[in-house]
Amino acid sequence: RAKASGKARFELFNSEMYASALARLQLETDLRRAIERDEFRVYYQPIVSLASGSILGFEALLRWQHPERGLLNPTDFIPLAEETGLIVQIGYWVLYQACRQMQHWLVNHRNTSLEKISVNLSVKQFSQPDLIERIGQILNSTGLDAKNLVLEITESAIVENGQAIATLSQLQELGIELSIDDFGTGYSSLERLYNFPISVLKIDRSFINPISTDKRNLEIVEIIVSLAHKLGVNVTAEGVETKEQLTFLQNLNCEYAQGYFFSKPLDNLAAIELIRHC
Ligand code: C2E
Ligand code: MG
Ligand code: MG
Ligand code: MG
Repeated sequence: RAKASGKARFELFNSEMYASALARLQLETDLRRAIERDEFRVYYQPIVSLASGSILGFEALLRWQHPERGLLNPTDFIPLAEETGLIVQIGYWVLYQACRQMQHWLVNHRNTSLEKISVNLSVKQFSQPDLIERIGQILNSTGLDAKNLVLEITESAIVENGQAIATLSQLQELGIELSIDDFGTGYSSLERLYNFPISVLKIDRSFINPISTDKRNLEIVEIIVSLAHKLGVNVTAEGVETKEQLTFLQNLNCEYAQGYFFSKPLDNLAAIELIRHC
């Protein structure tokens, strides 16, 4: 009997492994086809200036309208896209769409507060040798001025790249603004941070979300804001969901905030409606 059940378990384990390998392979095949089938979408989440209460800009966030599985979030497919290298091509697609959309908004809706479009750069994308050239081409072909573009790069992307400071400097020379994403979750040394040519730190939402309940997180947010201000950079707080969190951040003189309290990520039509009514 023991032997029989052992065998059954073994077979179950095998078929589960097989199923998950198959699912992964299927996802990879679908991912390779998604660009040509035009299944990716860019959503836009407002970033609010806390001093004026107006919308400074939007962060472009990728979604995948999967034919069978519905609208997928980046966490469902970005890790695989990174692993397979497909993220590089997908990342440039997002950058192009976001720059083109932003330029369209700036030209057609002149009397709004809209100034910046933020786009995420993946680790792989950030280390491509032709990064600067490709970004320059995208700005040229969309007509967007570099000063309207913010690139968000994680601490780990910077730490893993020996050329990081040189690349960041070149991007800055183009006039692009640089922002460190998910700040507080990585491990860049303070000394290196001091030398990064960046203008914004985005505090990871894991520190913001429990603000009302966790005193330690609240203190970490306070420390990050004062560190940023000492470095002469602005702060964006991610994941602001409540009025209480907002008031706390305003009292720290945090410059910008983003989160469900203001708006979830929106499709382009809903995003411009929001801007026009603000
Ligand atoms: P991120 O760049 O840190 O983006 C912020 C994430 O927090 C977004 O998740 C956004 O929807 C979510 N968020 C914003 N406000 C709130 C809030 O108040 N509460 C909660 N619970 N969540 C909030 P999303 O869109 O699922 O994106 C997840 C991550 O995927 C992004 O984190 C970014 O690292 C990555 N990502 C998204 N689009 C791209 C892209 O085009 N390229 C690359 N390389 N990565 C991307
Ligand atoms: Mg981001
Ligand atoms: Mg972030
Ligand atoms: Mg984050």
